[in-house]
Amino acid sequence: MIRTGNVEEMAGQGGIADPRLGGHFRVNAGGALLVGGRTADELVSQAGGTPLFVYDRAVIDAKIAALRAAMPGSVELHYAVKANPYAPLLAHVARQVDGLDVASGGELGEALASGMDAPRISFAGPGKRDEELEAAIRAGVTLNIESEGELERTASIARQIGRTLAAAVRVNPPFDLKGSGMRMGGGAKPFGVDADRVPSMLRRIGELGADFQGFHVFAGSQNLNVDAIVEAQTQTLALVADLARAAPAPPPVVNMGGGFGLPYFPGERPLDIERIGNTLGESLSARPDILRDTRFVLELGRYIVGDGGVYLTRVVDRKVSGGETFLITDGGLHHQLAASGNFGTVIRRNYPLVHAAQAAAPATERVNVVGCLCTPLDRLGEKLMLPRADVGDLVAVFMAGAYGRTASPERFLGHPAPREILI
Ligand SMILES: *Cc1c(COP(=O)(O)O)cnc(C)c1O
Repeated sequence: MIRTGNVEEMAGQGGIADPRLGGHFRVNAGGALLVGGRTADELVSQAGGTPLFVYDRAVIDAKIAALRAAMPGSVELHYAVKANPYAPLLAHVARQVDGLDVASGGELGEALASGMDAPRISFAGPGKRDEELEAAIRAGVTLNIESEGELERTASIARQIGRTLAAAVRVNPPFDLKGSGMRMGGGAKPFGVDADRVPSMLRRIGELGADFQGFHVFAGSQNLNVDAIVEAQTQTLALVADLARAAPAPPPVVNMGGGFGLPYFPGERPLDIERIGNTLGESLSARPDILRDTRFVLELGRYIVGDGGVYLTRVVDRKVSGGETFLITDGGLHHQLAASGNFGTVIRRNYPLVHAAQAAAPATERVNVVGCLCTPLDRLGEKLMLPRADVGDLVAVFMAGAYGRTASPERFLGHPAPREILI
């Protein structure tokens, strides 16, 4: 349930994190939501209509600055393009991070178009097709190799086109990031090479004369537990130091993953990134000699862009059924699958959501906010308290900056695509 308690007290104050407004946004004197200093109405007319994703560069910049301040100065920051590849946003982020991580040939094209230098792009992902491998080798990006078969295929493509292969090994670690929203390491996985098979693969990289680029270890995602993140980082350092002994050269780069989560729901707390940074700094100072000249990379998607986005959708119908009020909007899970609770969640909970023009008004009624798709899965807010909203009013769903449009089944049911703006 969304309470609207003292949101009005925040009018005119800067930078107060309130989860009811997605943590970063404010209201004007009239109680209307402001994103980048503009009301939802102004943003919608600027963009030409609803549904609309608004990405606030000030929030994104503040996140990057906070990460830079908290992490050891030697640690590089990469952005994982899959979190949000919207071209203006990607170009904006690319100017502020040290590299981009992509997971398809399509994302590779987007990353190159963003202006990022090719050697600062790395390409991970299971099932890279020959065309994608060739495009990556030609562009000169680092390939994070995910299997023995992929190594042989990639090496033979490099040979055919007369290029050197820049190869890192993606390791499937023998541990996972405990408490992650999505687990991507530990046990049988399609991602990476099981740690016990990595030494023989490293020898093969040497035989093939590839340009060894180091290791990539990604153990999980959407994690809010500092201790679990620190533990995974410590385990990652120990693992790569051990594996490095079988490598043709000390690893130039270790991409240690990330997994930094965001609070989406009441009771969840923002990550203490200072504590992560301090502990990481200590572990790096005590790192074994074989990693002495290694560059360390954190790759983050959601943490950088997730809370800088707001999804604006308009109420097209208001109806009562079985004693409950339904606000039916022109948006839905075809744009914002995650907010409907159908993207990597077990128990559905409401993303923070407000009546945009009355974000600070007292809640007066219990409603269900749903999308326009003809499926019971299409729920944006269940049984939540809002000020009265009528047909034509705008609803704002927060936490829409990551895994929104491109993580949603846009073609499902044939409704129009959303608009997007970066402000
Ligand atoms: C998805 C993914 C990321 C980004 O994860 P976030 O939780 O958005 O930070 C980073 N690296 C890899 C390999 C991924 O698959």
